[in-house]
Amino acid sequence: MPETAQDIDITTAGQPELTDGFHLVIDALKLNGVTTIYNVPGIPITDLGRMAQAAGIRVVSFRHEQSAGYAASIAGFLTKKPGICLTVSAPGFLNGLTALANATTNCFPMILISGSSEREIVDLQQGDYEEMDQLAIAKPLCKAAFRVLHAADIGVGVARAIRAAVSGRPGGVYLDLPAKLFAQVVDAKVGARSLVKVIDPAPAQLPASAAVKRALDVLKSAKRPLIILGKGAAYAQADDAIRALIEKSGIPFLPMSMAKGLLPDTHPQCAGAARSLVLKDADVVMLVGARLNWLLSHGKGKTWGEPRSKKFVQIDIEPREMDSNVEIAAPLVGDIGSCVSALVDGLGGGWSPPPAEWIQTVNAKREENIAKMAPRLMKNSAPMDFHGALGALRAVIKERPDAILVNEGANTLDLARGVIDMYQPRKRLDVGTWGVMGIGMGFAIAAAIETGKPVLAVEGDSAFGFSGMEVETICRYRLPVCVVVFNNDGIYRGVDVNPVGGSDPATTVFVKGSRYDKLIEAFGGVGVNATTPDELKGAVNAAMDSGKPTLINAVIDPASGSESGRIGNLNPQSALKKKA
Ligand code: ADP
Ligand code: MG
Repeated sequence: MPETAQDIDITTAGQPELTDGFHLVIDALKLNGVTTIYNVPGIPITDLGRMAQAAGIRVVSFRHEQSAGYAASIAGFLTKKPGICLTVSAPGFLNGLTALANATTNCFPMILISGSSEREIVDLQQGDYEEMDQLAIAKPLCKAAFRVLHAADIGVGVARAIRAAVSGRPGGVYLDLPAKLFAQVVDAKVGARSLVKVIDPAPAQLPASAAVKRALDVLKSAKRPLIILGKGAAYAQADDAIRALIEKSGIPFLPMSMAKGLLPDTHPQCAGAARSLVLKDADVVMLVGARLNWLLSHGKGKTWGEPRSKKFVQIDIEPREMDSNVEIAAPLVGDIGSCVSALVDGLGGGWSPPPAEWIQTVNAKREENIAKMAPRLMKNSAPMDFHGALGALRAVIKERPDAILVNEGANTLDLARGVIDMYQPRKRLDVGTWGVMGIGMGFAIAAAIETGKPVLAVEGDSAFGFSGMEVETICRYRLPVCVVVFNNDGIYRGVDVNPVGGSDPATTVFVKGSRYDKLIEAFGGVGVNATTPDELKGAVNAAMDSGKPTLINAVIDPASGSESGRIGNLNPQSALKKKA
């Protein structure tokens, strides 16, 4: 309500000038620098999308909310600003929720904005259209959840959502906007004054100097030090400081999947090809934006050598991450840019590089493993095996280091991670902490939109199926995305048979000899069937040169591929399973 008469703008017709919920949401987003919304239109947010587009926001419409959500989340990772996903109520909201939970798990900042049904009816469970208590459902799956009931609170609601998403450890935030809110009318001046511009949404968090000294002391005591770079380090955009730390210290580094390219995988200190050795034998390990979760065997067990044989230094913005799996000898809590810079300053003059013996051991192992792999990557056979096909893609990325690589699947993921070298930060986007399938097209679309760079999406045939319909979205927005489907006729491989015979296929196989390339042709894109690594390489290069939406069906030997890729050990085994 206006407080005084002067607050009211009088239009030429003598009426006060008004605004409404729709416009206030859009104004609040624009005021805070939101330039893109990833959405699926429908009740009650169809007009919100239309009006946002009219107001100059880029509104990208998807075919399924999960893809829109994944797009928003990776936009958040790439830009350090919350990616915005907009959905309809109940079912659309639920479809977006997987992406929201995945964003939170991966520490990607995103805001899921969903329209919702009428509170009064929902709370009395009187059977409203798409009735659901969305706020309650979202809460355990995200960092924070808010609902705005009054148009005058939209500014604060959006501001709180932005701060929650990007400050401290980034994550997913849910913002519930009931249908009624959009049509609420407010005096325009009052509305404008209610908006909040978020100042310094992710404040620097400086580490304490005692903690920096402790970390340096532990590093100095090392005979066989190792630095592990995680996707938090990639997110932080502190690339120069991280490079300075690695190069000044002379310590070998191991990039986690999405940290590949922070320094090139071909950097002389990169221990990626000597992973097993360095994890087992290092005596001091410094984690930079990487968690000791399952992807690092929780910091213990066989992978890590003798129990308690090493000390950990950990840089993380989240204090509660410390000691989550093993004791952290030197916790360094703060933002990565500030922590790493403090360490670089502390290295100063008194630092001596790690013992030459350790460096030689790591280098020898790396060279041995690289030499072992090399011939497999050169195989130009038809049908292709994974290594032959990936060898071709490896050569493409080497020639086009600024292209973005999106990667999902089982074998397609695990092998591509090892085979395809990355040369620049934040160029490798993949399934992340959960190993979730279905991120492919959403990530590819957002990567193209946010960066303007060409995108190569390397997809297992099963993984691609989760978001395959979004090739229409890629064609509609004419995005420079080249999708390569590694088609081996099934999940893990394509040769399983139904154990009891009959007409049903085995549970893990797809239609044999499928032509995924035909899919994109339906929407005017370029489809290619590639049967050899040479054909594959030629087709990807052509796609990248033209910038045309392209889908390449890469014919992979159905017999190649192992169960669950490299994580088959996570499959429980039945004690009753008959010996084959
Ligand atoms: P990876 O899977 O690559 O090992 P994780 O997602 O497990 O990486 O770990 C990322 C870590 O980085 C999280 O613990 C998160 O709190 C932390 N992090 C994210 N952004 C920052 C930042 N700007 N500064 C410090 N730590 C960060
Ligand atoms: Mg497959």
